[in-house]
Amino acid sequence: MTITMRAGGEADELLRKVETLSGQNLAGCYQCGTCAASCPLRGSMDLGPDAIIRHLRFGLPDVLDRQSFWVCVGCDGCVERCPRDIDIARIMGALRQISIQENGDHLVVAQLPAAALRKLPPIALVASMRRNTG
Ligand code: SF4
Ligand code: SF4
Repeated sequence: MTITMRAGGEADELLRKVETLSGQNLAGCYQCGTCAASCPLRGSMDLGPDAIIRHLRFGLPDVLDRQSFWVCVGCDGCVERCPRDIDIARIMGALRQISIQENGDHLVVAQLPAAALRKLPPIALVASMRRNTG
């Protein structure tokens, strides 16, 4: 995995973008960890939802290089249980959007193997295109 350091101004800009796109105030998070404990996909994430917020708030590196926001399915399990009413699913969505803007589409249909395309239900492909492409 490539680790990309973000300079102070760049980190502030990323935080500002995430807050604008998600409509969430990340300073409200007090790092209780309930979101991570509630997430059914935490085991498949390389950074838990609480840690994503911590990295964004304190300008820690490589948030956009993580896979967590692609793994998040927006089930709202964390949102339901957050004592600060922070909508983490929207934060994950904002990170996907920024990542696509900076790095290009996450899903490139032309690169999918023909066997996978034959097996995939069309609705799954359409849903994935909506979520993972610009
Ligand atoms: S549950 Fe809410 S307050 Fe607790 S760590 Fe997650 S986002 Fe922060
Ligand atoms: S919305 Fe995403 S981060 Fe929150 S519990 Fe569901 S999969 Fe996990």
